[in-house]
Amino acid sequence: MRSPSRRRARLSLLAVLSAVVAVAGLLSRVPTAGAAAPGCRADYRIASQWGGGFTAEIGLTNLGDRVDGWSLTWTFPAGQRVSQAWNAQVTQSGAAATAVNVDWNRSIATGATVSFGFNASLSGQNTVPSAFALNGVTCTGGTTPTTGPTTGPTTPPGDPWTPPAVLAPGLTEVWNHVESTYPNLYGFRNYGWDQLFANGGQINYCVRWDSSAPVSAALRDQIHAGLTRQFGKWMAALTGWNNWPYATVPVKVVGWAVRDRAQLQWTDNSVDVYVNDINENAPQCSTPCGRFFHQDGNYSGCPGGKAHHYDMSLWLTSGFGGGAGGDWGQRVGSEYFVGAVGQENIHILLHEVGHSFGLDDFYDWTPAGVCCFIMKAGSASSITEFDRWMLRDWWRHLKSRYGY
Ligand SMILES: [Zn+2]
Repeated sequence: MRSPSRRRARLSLLAVLSAVVAVAGLLSRVPTAGAAAPGCRADYRIASQWGGGFTAEIGLTNLGDRVDGWSLTWTFPAGQRVSQAWNAQVTQSGAAATAVNVDWNRSIATGATVSFGFNASLSGQNTVPSAFALNGVTCTGGTTPTTGPTTGPTTPPGDPWTPPAVLAPGLTEVWNHVESTYPNLYGFRNYGWDQLFANGGQINYCVRWDSSAPVSAALRDQIHAGLTRQFGKWMAALTGWNNWPYATVPVKVVGWAVRDRAQLQWTDNSVDVYVNDINENAPQCSTPCGRFFHQDGNYSGCPGGKAHHYDMSLWLTSGFGGGAGGDWGQRVGSEYFVGAVGQENIHILLHEVGHSFGLDDFYDWTPAGVCCFIMKAGSASSITEFDRWMLRDWWRHLKSRYGY
């Protein structure tokens, strides 16, 4: 059940959190009779970063009256330069950036959020912009400056939250930490959860083969199988729990991106092949087919339509150590992945898939009562009971979004 009062309390808490980002631009405003009350919140998130560049996403929430046509402005503090944007037109003059709506997202109803993203180059520190303005009015995170009611973390009613006693305090710490550090926790709409429900209980992948090595049909199928096995380990934690509706979650690899078609040693057409479409200095599957670029689910520009879209990328990069994960997918070393493809646990990928479902890193702290788990990088090589309960905690907090 979803109670309006709880929803409102949540909104207030978010407003307080986002004020950390927006506080530098706090304005006092004199209300004018009959005038539309403007108000906005901008959540700026660095989705991935590499040498010399990064990808950022901005969620723009309209907290005032409905707008028809919008521009969002901000100033980059550290010389960042936008090179490419999606779901908005972004221009830049010096440090001043302006994002203007595209046709289909020009209207934002009160309380609604639109998201857009961009790639940018980077010359130094990737300092986050601190002030945003919607149609010239500074985003303060509210329509009037307010301290708002404070609320503690909520426990959805009626949930079978029964973790082992030894894990419970640490899990509470983790969720409190998530609530206090994610700038747009409940507004963000492209978690693995969202992708899975939008795709009817299946996840489609495209492989970015960021390597000059050849790939046989057998290796292609092993990579698919390895990915399916790792993904399934997370999903198994949910099976039968707390109204989770899927007995299994199929992983379908719909495409491969490669620099040179000759690297792929198969002639069947079981997957779409994208050749030499280079983005982030790596082969990329067609952006009109990518969920990351079309979070509205409109794949009309994708050859083959929705059935050929991909929710996530499995980005395999030659010489890449470690990993990266997010709503866009996962990135690990190609040599590492191929070397581990037959292993029961491909632990770096397991960790990165956890990120795609919202799970956090633990670089600088450890929850009470636990030492080792997959999301604490380097401390475990398989998903632990603590990891499974962290995933379930996400489901119980997000499930009302999908009608459960
Ligand atoms: Zn991580």
